[in-house]
Amino acid sequence: MTQLVISDVSKRYGATLALDRVSLSVEAGSRVAIVGPSGSGKTTLLRIIAGFEAPDAGTVTLDGQVLANGPAIAAAHRRRIGYVTQDGALFPHLDVADNLGFGIPRDEPDRAARLCALMELVELDAAMLSRRPHELSGGQQQRVALARALARKPALMLLDEPFSALDTGLRESVRQAVARVLAKAGITTILVTHDQSEALSFADQLAVMREGRLAQAGRPYELYWRPADTETALFLGNAALFDAKIEAVGVSCALGRLAAETGGRRGGGTIMLRPEQFHLSATGPGLEAWVDDVTFRGAQCGVALRAGHEETEIRFTAQISSLEAPQIGDRVFVSIKGAAFLFPAPR
Ligand code: ADP
Repeated sequence: MTQLVISDVSKRYGATLALDRVSLSVEAGSRVAIVGPSGSGKTTLLRIIAGFEAPDAGTVTLDGQVLANGPAIAAAHRRRIGYVTQDGALFPHLDVADNLGFGIPRDEPDRAARLCALMELVELDAAMLSRRPHELSGGQQQRVALARALARKPALMLLDEPFSALDTGLRESVRQAVARVLAKAGITTILVTHDQSEALSFADQLAVMREGRLAQAGRPYELYWRPADTETALFLGNAALFDAKIEAVGVSCALGRLAAETGGRRGGGTIMLRPEQFHLSATGPGLEAWVDDVTFRGAQCGVALRAGHEETEIRFTAQISSLEAPQIGDRVFVSIKGAAFLFPAPR
């Protein structure tokens, strides 16, 4: 069931067109991540959904109820929408119970039980209810902020870069915990992030913004492997791009003949290979290449490669297990795992 429908929403700040006819549908119970470079309009879109800003044009509806129709908007506090920001924005002078209590009416009979249930939902010990925010870690504060937003039983949860202030290790575990909590509560969630890997792992739908427009929306796997254009491809991860000639079967490019779905197209095009598609071996078969550089990244390493000579010289980067890292200057043979992706013809 489609729950949130954003239709042709535009917003201008002076000379800046922050949103340009953005349309997006969000299914009930799903997790959507909005990604895009800084200034692409992500926060503006989230603030319009929350009701902190009015669009100049376009509509926003939630469960059939019109929240915004151009500049005419429903008040933010009437929207049944939770909002968690980067810093959580807990009240520093109140303990956790009172911070959470803000979302629960004072006269609610089972208030204490609800507070404990909320703590359990966000996987925090109820003993922390008496602590002040400064006595909690960054990750714990974010979970309290989430619990406070959940206390209002929102139909939709908006998360604006909620993990970006956390350390890398903690970030991953808090993100997984938050995803678990929201899935358990069955709450539709929209996450704004500039972190591609966070978006790819968190969401079941990804919306890529660029210069105020929705560049592409779809399942993360689909967008990573079948991006609509080279900009989206490079935004979602590293990629090697080559000009290619479309053959009867597959394509040919500087790497040789490669498998690719061509859909019966003819002529030329651009193909993409993700760095993890390159397989390196010390003996053939494969394309002869030379190792220019090796970047150690823990589990994986990046291997900068060079093949061909002078006019035909090409450079690309492979990502392989760091257990198999070659040495700088080594000669290797490169083969391709899976098919190359042929970008759609430009319109
Ligand atoms: P993102 O969240 O993707 O970084 P924003 O939605 O914050 O992007 O901003 C989109 C564009 O709108 C940017 O060019 C930004 O400078 C501009 N903008 C956002 N909010 C305001 C505002 N209140 N006043 C003027 N310009 C704004």
